[in-house]
Amino acid sequence: MAEVRFWEEAIQSGPIPQDGSTFDAIVVGGGPGGSAAAGYLAMEGKSVLLIEKGVWPRDKVCGDAIGGKSLGHVKALGIKTRLESTPHFKVTGIVFSSPNGSEVMVPLPEEDVQKMEAGYSLPRKQFDWLLFERSNELVLANGGSVIQGGDVREINVEEGVIVGVSVRIGGRNGEVFSYSAPWTIGAGGYQCPVARKVIKDLAGEELVDRMHYCGGYREYWDGVKGCEGNSGSIEIHFVDSVIPGYFWLFPLGDGRVNVGIGMVLGMLDKQKTKLKALQRDVIANHPLFKERFEGAEMVAGTGKGWQLPFGSPRKGAKNQPRRSWGPGALLVGDAASLVDPFSGEGVGNALVSGEMAARHVIEGRGGDEYQQELWGLLGPELTNSYKMQKTSRRAWLLNWFVKKASRKPAIQEMMTEMIASKEAQGDLHSKWFMVKTLLF
Ligand SMILES: Cc1cc2nc3c(=O)[nH]c(=O)nc-3n(C[C@H](O)[C@H](O)[C@H](O)COP(=O)(O)OP(=O)(O)OC[C@H]3O[C@@H](n4cnc5c(N)ncnc54)[C@H](O)[C@@H]3O)c2cc1C
Repeated sequence: MAEVRFWEEAIQSGPIPQDGSTFDAIVVGGGPGGSAAAGYLAMEGKSVLLIEKGVWPRDKVCGDAIGGKSLGHVKALGIKTRLESTPHFKVTGIVFSSPNGSEVMVPLPEEDVQKMEAGYSLPRKQFDWLLFERSNELVLANGGSVIQGGDVREINVEEGVIVGVSVRIGGRNGEVFSYSAPWTIGAGGYQCPVARKVIKDLAGEELVDRMHYCGGYREYWDGVKGCEGNSGSIEIHFVDSVIPGYFWLFPLGDGRVNVGIGMVLGMLDKQKTKLKALQRDVIANHPLFKERFEGAEMVAGTGKGWQLPFGSPRKGAKNQPRRSWGPGALLVGDAASLVDPFSGEGVGNALVSGEMAARHVIEGRGGDEYQQELWGLLGPELTNSYKMQKTSRRAWLLNWFVKKASRKPAIQEMMTEMIASKEAQGDLHSKWFMVKTLLF
């Protein structure tokens, strides 16, 4: 009997609300950030309008690694058991390689995975479906509405305050509906129309800084050697042609692998190459990979690129990425530029900020208080990751570090802690701790 893959089915969202309807909050975008914000708001009985441009099932270009930070929210939103009943790859380690080919495997042992919740990898098509479907259920049960296939075209402003949105439903020639709410949450990813309105139009600030934006490209492959099974390591390779950035192999289970490459846009501009061509070259010619890809097949139509707005501090500002609020609006996830600038992880911070934005709306605090709490929580780790990204631009340093780490279990243990537990990242601030572990 064929396996029932419920995450490939349509999600029923109910009727389109009447033009002119009012809600407690409007959420633009139904990825992890928007689904979390809408779900948490609805759980507190708020009437929410959740608007998503796509129609489920929909794909999202990603590396598909879901880190430990996400799992607490997956549980709080009530889908952890359901998610774990669907196929996924359990991450038990991370392999790093440096430009000269040295490798180190940082283990994430089963008991630590339990304790520290190291994470999974599974296609975003599946992960996002589970989140959106749950939010859809919560929103509809609490007097709200959900629109799929709704493209938010206009953010409506009255006397300098965002008061709602206009949505085109039904494609290019579709009808336009307008809705209002005291709060609009921008969760539309890197091209979020709410972020554009808040940052560019209202505050007159820079939206895209190419030194803080990353280009990413992914393909799905079957049959890559060393990526079999349903648990094991994900792989991050700092290959010469890709630094500053990396080439990844993230297995998804049953022999399928997410293979991709990412690089800061400003750096990519200087190289005058395209990520797709870089990836093709690494797969075909790099001594570490060419044999592993022999006989493997790319899944047709899965080669796609997208951008990652990094949360690195801008222009020397302490711990501060980009503005994340405007009058009547809060931004979450990629719309608030919160992707980790070293690892490229963004799902966790989308969920964290989605919950925080919902809480601020519920408590009627919003605005600058939201931004202060967000930067207070995420700023230090994003700043740390930015330092690591800048360090990784030096090939000799990567070679030295990975070789050293491959020989010293104490460094591997330190890396395990750093990866699996964000609290342990505090140790990175201690130069003495780092020097002691690296040198002695
Ligand atoms: C190549 C690549 C690899 C990555 N790998 C990883 C990884 O392995 N692990 C990880 O944690 N993160 C990874 N990321 C980052 C991660 O994908 C994002 O940080 C995450 O998806 C952010 O979630 P979000 O909800 O903020 O935005 P999104 O997931 O982008 O969701 C935004 C939603 O808004 C909708 N939308 C957009 N415009 C409108 C509009 N006008 N009207 C209505 N709806 C709209 C979109 O259709 C979309 O569904 C990767 C990103 C890329 C590009």
